[in-house]
Amino acid sequence: MPKAPVDDCLFCRIVQKSIPAEIVHETDSTLAFRDVHPKAPVHVLVIPKEHVESIMHLEKRHAALLGDLHETIQAVARSEKLVPGGFRIAVNVGREAGQTVPHLHYHVLGGRAFSWPPG
Ligand code: AMP
Repeated sequence: MPKAPVDDCLFCRIVQKSIPAEIVHETDSTLAFRDVHPKAPVHVLVIPKEHVESIMHLEKRHAALLGDLHETIQAVARSEKLVPGGFRIAVNVGREAGQTVPHLHYHVLGGRAFSWPPG
């Protein structure tokens, strides 16, 4: 069973449209919206609508959802014209990696060159 929205979760509230966001793509199970503090010319967050705290909270039952999230990333990459040039996906997991919002989110960054390794 999908988990119910969490009342004090910022991204659950964006999913419920009780907090505004600039949505760029939406499916039954995913949402993509622009980051309020962009770190690149294109900075979109792709999230599951279901409240999943982080990658460490994914279960077997989320297999289809993971496919949906990757399809949404592809759709954003195309609509934001990030291909064929390329783009960066970042997922912060936990405090030391800098995860500030405990609702799984993929940062889709593009429109500039990125260095490796990341900081
Ligand atoms: P992380 O630090 O990996 O947890 O990423 C959380 C991201 O959410 C940050 O890049 C923030 O800029 C972004 N963010 C925080 N509040 C909002 C909001 N209301 N709308 C869109 N993005 C947000």
